[in-house]
Amino acid sequence: MSAPTTVISRSIPLSRPDITEDDIARSAEVLRTGMLVQGRVVEGFETAVSEFLGGVHVRAVANGTAALQLALLALGIGPGDEVVVPAFSFVATANVVELVHARPVFVDIDIATYNIDVARIESAITTRTKAIMPVHEFGLACDIEAVRAIAERHGLAVVEDAACALGALAGGRQAGTFGTLGCFSLHPRKAVTSGEGGLVVTSRAAYAEQIGLLRNHGIADRDGGKEYVLPGFNYRLTEFQAALVASQFTRLPRNLEYRRALATVYESCLDGTRLRKPTAPADRVHAWQTYHVLLDSTIDRRVLMQRLQDVGIQTSLGAQCIPAQQYYRCTYGFDAPREYPAAFRAWRHGLALPMSERLSKSDIQYVAENLNRIIS
Ligand SMILES: *Cc1c(COP(=O)(O)O)cnc(C)c1O
Repeated sequence: MSAPTTVISRSIPLSRPDITEDDIARSAEVLRTGMLVQGRVVEGFETAVSEFLGGVHVRAVANGTAALQLALLALGIGPGDEVVVPAFSFVATANVVELVHARPVFVDIDIATYNIDVARIESAITTRTKAIMPVHEFGLACDIEAVRAIAERHGLAVVEDAACALGALAGGRQAGTFGTLGCFSLHPRKAVTSGEGGLVVTSRAAYAEQIGLLRNHGIADRDGGKEYVLPGFNYRLTEFQAALVASQFTRLPRNLEYRRALATVYESCLDGTRLRKPTAPADRVHAWQTYHVLLDSTIDRRVLMQRLQDVGIQTSLGAQCIPAQQYYRCTYGFDAPREYPAAFRAWRHGLALPMSERLSKSDIQYVAENLNRIIS
């Protein structure tokens, strides 16, 4: 027998959820009770998240996209309205605006942070604008205070797409708690997961009540009975999902700290000659949901990804230039490379590197060394 020509010494996935046997046992316990739909376990998880975020109202829902859609509906956003969104994000950020029959108005990003370029927001506001929906991309809070100031000046709501930013801080305060409403995702690629799941948070009780109605068929408790007060969705989280994510949630602070330590390893080991490493402004604490680098435009990303895969390293694209995607391109006739050059560049030359609690510092060194070697 001949020896294999290549030896894959490691297998390093892009990400893996941190689910322990104990988390599974907590979920299994709930399954055995037979009480599966939204109830006390969901409520307990909402309370834990509320405490972590500093006392906002929290409503758990079926997924992060549902959270965003319900936030827009709670604000009464619909046909004829416009919502300002960044041009670089996961497509759901813009899709939810379409789904409530409003129009997304894209603003280019700041390539240094991948977040909405706040200096370009005001020129995107019209008499039809109802809200600004910034994204805290890859777990880095955007300049949310500047967004809030603009919104206040123009009488607009702010919906934070904090889907990938649970635990991110801006000025010492939790991302997701600055806006009129904030939305998180509990997808397996995010900090904590229920498989599919999401959260809407708000400091305003009336919005929380509206979200509560919208996620559960518009059913309100009235005088010891039920009243069906609006045509709602079924966007509930299940009890066993809530048990799973609540169990992981107790480790969130420790996991965030560990991700910061891994990001530090990337920062010190990655050669920045042919790629740009991510950075955070001094007043932010990055949650490192994704470690995203921007490659020199002369690097063939497809070839690089294959060569990394050859040594067991999985990578992926970070997010999309949304106006360049088929639906938005065809519906609105965008010329994305010209209109949104930074978002287009981030989409074309960005690369998400492995990052998760299940990786060691030596795994990160291995990724950095191989990446350095391949592009040198
Ligand atoms: C993950 C994500 C979403 C969607 O969340 P789901 O739970 O998958 O529906 C929306 N926006 C951003 C920025 C995301 O990262």
